[in-house]
Amino acid sequence: MSDKYDVIVIGGGPAGYVAAIRCAQLGLNTACVESWINKQGKPALGGTCLNVGCIPSKALLESSQLYSDAKHHFGDHGIVVPSVTADVPKMIQSKDKIVQELTGGIEGLFKANKITWIKGTGSLLPDRQVEVTAHDNSKSIHSAGNVILATGSTSIEIAAVPLQGDVIVDSAGALDWESVPEKLCVIGAGVIGLELGSVWRRLGAEVVVLEAQDAFLPMVDDQIARDSLRQFSQQGLDIKLGARVMASSVNGDKVSIEYTDKDGEQQLQVDRVIVAVGRRSNISQLTLPETDLLIDERGLVHVNGACETNLPGVWAIGDLVRGPMLAHKGSEEGVAVAERIAGHQCHLNYDAIPSVIYTHPEISWVGKTEEQLKEEGANYKKGVFPFLASGRAKAMQDTAGMVKILADADSDAVLGMHIVGPHSSELIGHGVLTLEFEGTIEDIARTVFAHPTLSEAIHEAALGADGRAIHIPNRNR
Ligand code: FAD
Ligand code: NAD
Repeated sequence: MSDKYDVIVIGGGPAGYVAAIRCAQLGLNTACVESWINKQGKPALGGTCLNVGCIPSKALLESSQLYSDAKHHFGDHGIVVPSVTADVPKMIQSKDKIVQELTGGIEGLFKANKITWIKGTGSLLPDRQVEVTAHDNSKSIHSAGNVILATGSTSIEIAAVPLQGDVIVDSAGALDWESVPEKLCVIGAGVIGLELGSVWRRLGAEVVVLEAQDAFLPMVDDQIARDSLRQFSQQGLDIKLGARVMASSVNGDKVSIEYTDKDGEQQLQVDRVIVAVGRRSNISQLTLPETDLLIDERGLVHVNGACETNLPGVWAIGDLVRGPMLAHKGSEEGVAVAERIAGHQCHLNYDAIPSVIYTHPEISWVGKTEEQLKEEGANYKKGVFPFLASGRAKAMQDTAGMVKILADADSDAVLGMHIVGPHSSELIGHGVLTLEFEGTIEDIARTVFAHPTLSEAIHEAALGADGRAIHIPNRNR
């Protein structure tokens, strides 16, 4: 069977489903090929993000933080809770319900936008034809004026610690445990390691994080990374840097991990392990060799700044291509490509994509770090404001962290905003808008922020860049 669409999207994650919806909005006859089978054994849209990524991890981060607050912090506010227990199976069920509602919502949006969902695995053939292998192994061929590749990524596995049942798991497995391990080893102190390590730490596990690199969160501004490391240590996350995992073995219900660090060979006995050492793009079933799709040296589909591959009318977006592996980056590439296909002009500003690590406190940033500016030899100024001096953070009794703003000392243009602190995932939007609007320190300084809010810390950090912060002594005066 062969049918013809204006656009076929392969992959229905946040990059692909958003691209499909925008294409349909623009009047293009659109199909999306998606192979995901969910926990309930049903085909599902939404990709990694909705099924086993952003959403379920945030659901568990939220539930585990509420538990931790009730257990350890309500007393600070004079709320006496005689006994708090975590019903972990209920937490997992609640997370699953959120996932099902959201993935079902995308299915509803596909129907409303008249997008054809072709269930199965898509492979790109020459001349913008797509072969689909359905879940019953039947095959069909479809063709389109344009094809958008959006097959995303999967967890990287390491030979030294092969996955095993629900004892040694990747991030997806760690979202489904129904009991709390007494002792947990997380391999990789990246975004996933810190988020999922935090979930299980809050629920009561003793957590050791083994990180191969000597630096902690090297992509984060150093001052913010150092402050975060201190706070994670206070929370009981035992983060070991420069720890290279050599081997592992499962003995009964214990896992033994061998690693080396600056002091030599070490051994660790734990109950469960999460391997969180990065993700690789899904290209293995995506295309046949005769299609000649160019893959770069990092195993990503090669694209130009407009997400065009080397094949005419074939585009690639999301985790499959260069740039940060973030849902919002993929979605915005999806919108941009749909609009380009429809003949519109559009631009995506890769310099103003926010990143967030949803730990407590949250770590968020956009733009350049201080280290990057130093390396560039830039003439910059900075303002830092601690949440300790914020009235709202005090009222919340949640005063860890700071806002740091970096700006060009000559033009006053804001170059970066870095926040570790409560709700920084929401606060960082101020930084994104400032960069998007090419705003300056003076723009933020002249803006009226509501009192008392956490966002006043941004105002004060901006004032501090010019030595005129009100609520802390000024370093620059
Ligand atoms: P994916 O979401 O991976 O979707 C790709 C889809 O393509 C999948 O549904 C897959 O089934 C399908 N597919 C693959 N091959 C084929 C094929 N040949 N045929 C048909 N279908 C195919 N990012 C954030 O921005 N914020 C977060 O808070 C966040 N949290 C995360 C937490 C975890 C635990 C993980 C693992 C990731 C998280 N991410 C987060 C990253 C985010 O999930 C990804 O960046 C995002 O999902 C990438 O979107 P995508 O559409 O490119 O790929
Ligand atoms: P990551 O790249 O953030 O971190 C992986 C870490 O593992 C690195 O610090 C790396 O040095 C370390 N590592 C690699 N091999 C190792 C080994 N053998 N032993 C010990 N440590 C090792 O990757 P991740 O945490 O797996 O996340 C994957 C992607 O998913 C990230 O790119 C991230 O952007 C995305 N993600 C985003 C969010 C978010 O936006 N909040 C949340 C989760 C995931």
